[in-house]
Amino acid sequence: HEVHLVYTRLRTEERMLADALRARGFGVRTHADSELVLPLSRERWQDGGPVLMRSMSFTRARYLSSILEVKGSRVLNTAHCIATCGDKALTTLALARAEVPIPWAFVGFEEEACVAQMQERGFPVVTKPVLGSWGRMVARVDGVHAAEGMMSMRFEMGGAQDHVALVQQYIDKPGYDLRVYVIGKSVGGMRRRSEHWVTNTARGAVPERYEVPESHARLAEQAARAVGGEMVAVDLLETRAGEVMVNEINHCVEFARSIEFTGIPLPELMADYVRETLR
Ligand code: ADP
Ligand code: ZN
Ligand code: MG
Repeated sequence: HEVHLVYTRLRTEERMLADALRARGFGVRTHADSELVLPLSRERWQDGGPVLMRSMSFTRARYLSSILEVKGSRVLNTAHCIATCGDKALTTLALARAEVPIPWAFVGFEEEACVAQMQERGFPVVTKPVLGSWGRMVARVDGVHAAEGMMSMRFEMGGAQDHVALVQQYIDKPGYDLRVYVIGKSVGGMRRRSEHWVTNTARGAVPERYEVPESHARLAEQAARAVGGEMVAVDLLETRAGEVMVNEINHCVEFARSIEFTGIPLPELMADYVRETLR
């Protein structure tokens, strides 16, 4: 079998994944998403072999995975998983449907209605773009004046697809959040520690290994199931009282900044998962 790896940039992750697949006897063909122009038809793509979707662009990943599935390719993660995880409102909704514990959240479509709902719930709250990653534009809103400013920006800037506000309960974390990797099953995790309330490693948080307790592993697996995630990173928020909730799920697992700290062999585990699912 050949595995097709679709990428935006061949980062450390993509190189390590390709190496791990080759070490297991797979041929690996890499495809830049920018060069793919795919007919919208059932016509088979390439040799019909499995596809690892590693595009960094949500737009490209979502369309390409949908198209390739119609063509009969086995895409990891699935188009449904990507479409759900790429949109934080849809992720939250899928988690709510599956009764996974989450911070309360709402979406709204107009400034006054959103600000009124925030005031009713009480500050602080968090608002973030439904499409986005690496902690970009995640904002903590401590009071009504910031809320008005944030909401007017949300609804007066950007295009139609930006005109939805996602507002979430602010969780007072104990200086870190948690990430559990689910590669078929929970395989380990990391704690991301930061002085700042935004704990992305892309924003300078320090990754540490943490021994995932059974309860966190089960919660992450339940969350992954809720979005149809086979190879995902599930982000958990812990309150100072020790209550644990699911914040978001990442469908394109990144590990370049953390693998040396966690020691979790993610490329090998992912390659093993690909091999198992193709049996
Ligand atoms: P991204 O996809 O950009 O990583 P997240 O929703 O994961 O977006 O938010 C980035 C970080 O911001 C989280 O890892 C966490 O540290 C912090 N954060 C996000 N939402 C909340 C929240 N509701 N309460 C507390 N911290 C939050
Ligand atoms: Zn994310
Ligand atoms: Mg995150």
